[in-house]
Amino acid sequence: MTEEIKIDDELTIGGDEFTIIAGPCAVESEKQMEAIGEFLSDLGVKIIRGGAFKPRTSPKSFQGLGFEGLKILKKLKKHYGFKVISEIMDPRDIEHAYEYIDIYQIGSRNMQNYSLLKEIGKTDKPVLLKRGMSATIDEWIKASEYIRMEGNNRIILCERGIRTFENYTRNTLDLMSVPIMKSETKYPVLIDPSHGTGIRELVLPASKAALAIGADGLIIEIHPQPEKALSDGDQSLDFTGFKNLLDEVNSMIKSLRIDL
Ligand code: PEP
Ligand code: MN
Repeated sequence: MTEEIKIDDELTIGGDEFTIIAGPCAVESEKQMEAIGEFLSDLGVKIIRGGAFKPRTSPKSFQGLGFEGLKILKKLKKHYGFKVISEIMDPRDIEHAYEYIDIYQIGSRNMQNYSLLKEIGKTDKPVLLKRGMSATIDEWIKASEYIRMEGNNRIILCERGIRTFENYTRNTLDLMSVPIMKSETKYPVLIDPSHGTGIRELVLPASKAALAIGADGLIIEIHPQPEKALSDGDQSLDFTGFKNLLDEVNSMIKSLRIDL
């Protein structure tokens, strides 16, 4: 059984739980986040995602709102009681971000940024470690050891797809990494079907497959108007799409539990 990670003694990731985290790729504005916060809170989603520091391929693309973005997330946290997950790219931001974030996210591009891993390992907050887009399973396991060896074993793994010769999808979602990582590490493993596919229509089937193969949850990108999103609009679900996903996944959880 996967180890449980408790967040403030209020929430558990791993164990018997199936955790659904949702939010936009990037925090863009207060207005956008208020709409998303109200929507997710009504649906009972307890952990909200939103990038404030964005690792964009082009330096000309929207880079995120930085600490202004984290402040917006904190407002939502206060108002709705969400737990917040957000990516940190620079070790110098870890300390300052501590009061805003409940789970530090290490992005795919930084899975092998060993100074960042070591600094995050010195904190006492859970860390979501995404798989590097070109990382083998062995490299991913060793990256998690960099965090653990500094004292932090509250690690959540996240498969978000890897680069292969197949380019129909943005990445190739390696679902086999779920049972492998669960037996090799005992850390909870989440699936990110948004980056894993890059295609909105594939997010639901990938989510169902994640549940079927034993993942501990999902992290999903949503946006009130995906066509206007400043990043990753093509893979973001709108509110109707996300509500439908939640319904489908919840009914699948029910039927799996009855069948057991
Ligand atoms: C993200 O979660 O928005 C993100 C940048 O993901 P990844 O690091 O997996 O590309
Ligand atoms: Mn994204």
